[in-house]
Formats: sequence, structure tokens, C-alpha cells
Amino acid sequence: MSRAYACPATWSSAVSDPAVIRLKPLPLVLRPRYQYMKQVMTTQSSTRAFFASSGDEALWEQARALREQYWGRSVFFRGIVEFSSYCERNCLYCGLRRENMALARYRLSPEEIFRAASDVHDLGIGTVVLQSGEDSFYDARTVAALARRIKTELGLAVTLSLGERSTEEYALWRAAGADRYLLKMETFLEANFRFLRPDSSPAARAAAYADLQKLGFECGNGIILGLPGETGETDEADEADETGGALAIHLAALQKLAPSMLAISPFIPHPDTPLADHPSPELPVILRAMARARIALPSAHIPVTSALGLLGDDIRIKALEVGDVLMPSLTPEQVRAGYSIYPGKNDSAETPVSRAKRLMDAVARAGFAVPSGPAGRGDAWKAQ
Ligand code: SAH
Ligand code: SF4
Repeated sequence: MSRAYACPATWSSAVSDPAVIRLKPLPLVLRPRYQYMKQVMTTQSSTRAFFASSGDEALWEQARALREQYWGRSVFFRGIVEFSSYCERNCLYCGLRRENMALARYRLSPEEIFRAASDVHDLGIGTVVLQSGEDSFYDARTVAALARRIKTELGLAVTLSLGERSTEEYALWRAAGADRYLLKMETFLEANFRFLRPDSSPAARAAAYADLQKLGFECGNGIILGLPGETGETDEADEADETGGALAIHLAALQKLAPSMLAISPFIPHPDTPLADHPSPELPVILRAMARARIALPSAHIPVTSALGLLGDDIRIKALEVGDVLMPSLTPEQVRAGYSIYPGKNDSAETPVSRAKRLMDAVARAGFAVPSGPAGRGDAWKAQ
């Protein structure tokens, strides 16, 4: 596959931008929504009580039992290193889109990426996820060498999430020892996909995913929940889903693909994108979708995404009743706020290592197990 578009000339090709990227607080317009969602959730005595009041207790309970059947009380941590915020694509929902000129971009050098992966290892986390915008500045050999070095020197499971690349590039990375690849379809509604990802196509993304499966990667897939044209207004839309709406279509397609990881990320509007005014789905809708994902693919790893984590650690922990994966960012603090997929991402004054540690402690205190050693890699169910 060749790239049909070029980086704007204003983009630097320096390996790393020395400027510290300033933390950007959550825009004022979004704060009341988060406060409201948090309040709704935390004033309920438990998730179950919350669902009892909204009539979804049975759904939640079924999902909770399946999570426990497949993964017990284990929570699998993956340390994510977001190594480049440059992107050649222009997805309407994403703050990294190439036309967002308001974003201070950064690239980490292979050495910086390796150091961040070492932090993941030192925390006792078994998997590193290397993620970026679609940035062909990192050629296939550079990525392969990095994956090989991380595997041999740190012994971590390596997940890549670099978007759509050629079959040959994927093959090189697999041969270098990369174990997994995360490539979300984002939406399975074709017309919506074309609108929201104008320089990709459903067929190209599906073909890239099929390549990854053929090469033997453990594959992750998933959607952004609440994109325009998919769900309309929250609860109303969820009603529609019960009779064959967007979520049902997504889950049916995902069942066919049988990914080993399935992510349901709530849409968060980014002020510097064309979707700035489109609302996030409400918390009950997000939790119901996660429960339905667990029921549709009971043995999949289901992350409690960092987008949901924006609502606070208490909500993240509640969502772990049906989800089983957490992905704290170990992107170095000098640049991490620049990975602005949506506002609030990586928006923490703490160092990445201490933030990840605190999250691990909070999860253990909540009565979950955090496996270490080979079990901590959290391989796909079939590989257990
Ligand atoms: N560039 C690669 C790597 C992942 S980008 C790719 O697109 O495959 C990181 C992820 O962020 C995307 O998969 C998408 O699901 C998520 N994302 C982007 N914008 C978002 C938004 N506004 N709200 C929620 N999730 C978003
Ligand atoms: Fe780029 Fe991925 Fe964001 Fe699309 S979702 S603009 S490919 S980083």
C-alpha cells in the first residue's frame, strides 16, 4: 500500500521536539457534563443499584458473571507508549487529525521509546502497547528493531497500534517478535466510516485487519461509541439498538471477527475537530454497551478505556466488573499531553509512573488481582 497523501510542509521531521507540551485542561463546556455523569454514578451505592434503578440489572449481572468465568478477578495492565502525535490521516473525530494545526506535535526517538518501555517493565506490567498517529516517518525497519529490542531485553509482550500499513510491514513486525496488533474498525456502518475517516475505506481497513489475523497477531478491534449518525441521543438510541440499531450491528460484525481484545471507547468531542459539538454518550449507555460487548464476546479482553477513565478512578473500577484490561499511559511527561486524541487525555499532573502505580494499587485495593509474570501478559483466551 502506498501513501496517497503527504505530510504538510509545516511538520517538523525532527526525531523529538524538545519543547515541553503544556497540559490543556478540560474545556469549560465539557466540564458540567463530566461532573453530572460522575455525580449520577457516584451517588448510587453500587453499579448494581444503579442498574436496578435503570432496569438493567440483569444485563449487568450476566456480563459480570461471564467476566468472572473467563478472567476471574484478574485485571491485566498494558502500559501504553504513545510515541508520535503526527498523523497523516484526517479522521473527523480525532484531535491528532492532520488538519489540526492547533496541536503541538512530538515524536519520540527509538531510545526514548525504549526507556518508556523499560518503565512499563519496571512497574511489573507484562505488555507494552506502542501507539501513534499514522506516521510513516517511522519506517518499518525502525519499528521492527524496536520491537525486537523490547522483546529480547525486556521480555515484554509487544502490541503495536500504528494504523493501516502494508502487508509487508506487518509481516516484518511479526517476524521481529511483535505479538499483538490493535486496529479498531471504529464503526461498522460503511457510509459513516467513509464520512468519518475520509482518507481510508472500510474495505482497506478490513483488509489490513485480515492481514494481521493471517500473520498470527493476536488482534484487537473495537468501536468508538456514540459517533454521529450512529446513536443519536443516548437512551433513545439505545432503545433503537435493542431492535437492531448501531451497537447491534457493530457487535454482530465483531463476533464474526472474534478479536482477542474488544474496545468500546466512548466518543469524547475534541474542540479542534469538526465534531467539537457532538456530545459524548451518557455513562449508563457506555456501561450498557460494555456489558453487551462482554455478552457478545465473553472470552475477549475488554479494556476499560482511558476515555471512560476521564470520569475518575472510581468509575473505572466499577467498569472493571465487566471489563478486565487497563492501559495506563507511560508516555514521557514532557510530551504526553500532546497526545491529544480527545481533551483530558494524559491530563495529569502526576508522573506517568506514579500515576500507573496509583492505579495498580487502587485496583488491588478494590479486591481485583493484578497477575504478574507470564500470567500478567494477559494473552488471548485461546492461548491460556
Ligand atoms: N492512529 C491509529 C492508532 C490509534 S489512534 C489508528 O487510528 O488506528 C487511537 C484511538 O483513539 C483510535 O483507535 C480511536 O478509537 C480513538 N479515538 C480517536 N479520537 C477519539 C475521540 N474523539 N473519542 C474517543 N476515542 C477516540
Ligand atoms: Fe490519525 Fe488514528 Fe487519529 Fe485517525 S484516529 S486521525 S488515524 S491518530
